[in-house]
Amino acid sequence: MKHDLSKKGFATRQIHAGHIEVPGINPLATPIFQTSTFVFENAAQGAARFAKKEKGYIYTRLGNPNQDQVGAKVAALENAEAGIVLSSGMGAISTCFWTILESGDHVVANDTLYGATYSFLTKAFPRYGGEATFTDLTNLENLKSSLRSNTKLVFFETPANPNLNVIDIEAVAETVHAFDKNIKVVVDNTFCTPYIQRPLDLGADVVVHSGTKYLNGHGDVISGMICGKADFIEKCRSFGLSFVTGASLSPFDSFLISRGLKTLDIRMEKHCSNAIAIAEFLEGHEKVNKVYYPGLPDFPGREIVKKQMKLPGAMISFELNASKAKSEAFINSLELCALAVSLGDTETLIQHPASMTHNSYSKQALSEAGITESMIRLSIGLETVDDLIEDLKDGLEKI
Ligand SMILES: *Cc1c(COP(=O)(O)O)cnc(C)c1O
Repeated sequence: MKHDLSKKGFATRQIHAGHIEVPGINPLATPIFQTSTFVFENAAQGAARFAKKEKGYIYTRLGNPNQDQVGAKVAALENAEAGIVLSSGMGAISTCFWTILESGDHVVANDTLYGATYSFLTKAFPRYGGEATFTDLTNLENLKSSLRSNTKLVFFETPANPNLNVIDIEAVAETVHAFDKNIKVVVDNTFCTPYIQRPLDLGADVVVHSGTKYLNGHGDVISGMICGKADFIEKCRSFGLSFVTGASLSPFDSFLISRGLKTLDIRMEKHCSNAIAIAEFLEGHEKVNKVYYPGLPDFPGREIVKKQMKLPGAMISFELNASKAKSEAFINSLELCALAVSLGDTETLIQHPASMTHNSYSKQALSEAGITESMIRLSIGLETVDDLIEDLKDGLEKI
């Protein structure tokens, strides 16, 4: 690269960061390096690469140009020293966790988490001698009383999934590091993307993503990312990925994500402007009981939203003034909003967290996390907003 990209704007970085030079051919679009392995020039070179004395590719589980392009792009956008792409969000989260954690360690996590992350901490981690405390991290007193001498990791999503509670990243990072600067504060930034929120700038140590969602943005790839200090990302690669999870992403899927990332900022602007209009419509409708959306003026964490988020995001949860059967009938009657889990796609998606994404939560855990039986979650897509509102309006009129 001729330019120092670190001084360029977000849109320039999302397009140009991680550019791969192919001398003599000079393609504009990145070729797909669809290869499992890389040929060494001689035995000494192979040995030097394994000994980490020479940079260069060895084998696609350990690294591939298309994967590195995605890692470099996301790192450039998160203002991180380095980034790595993995084969799913859970691949990224588990690779990150297994790189940090040992038997006997303790984790503090927010009480509202993505269902599979919650299951990792409640079902997998205890099998290997670890323990997790779940608490409401919107209250710093809960955090202070949960930290222990063997705490190694503090983990949360903000806004949280699906109640959209926002957590003050700066305040949590300060509190944790004042207690013990070696504890890693890890933020799942899937709901915001670095266009809206950059946790590392606010004092977090590591950012993880489900790249399946907005970063790829087109609903056709499962992937994940970890961003942070270069030495930590190297450990994630050489330990967590290489020895534990093996969660490497295919070159083709990496190519698709690089392609998706080039339009991240304009997609996020439209996702959010659509979501603001829909949240206002839902709030004004007599059959809607409650709307959870960080962009509404009466949203409880509004001051934190203004401090750490550029835009309010495009995830909306809401409850109807209706029985469970009628809520279900409403979801079934929609024609444009697709009934599907996942989020961050061009298509608007609707789902029921208590029975779908958060079905690993017990009834008590659901109520502690503020996930009600009647809560419905929308991921607002990029369609014409009037059409989406009409679809929701028709559905509400039918019940
Ligand atoms: C989807 C999601 C994950 C898991 O990512 P996968 O790509 O499905 O493995 C983790 N965190 C959040 C907030 C998510 O939405």
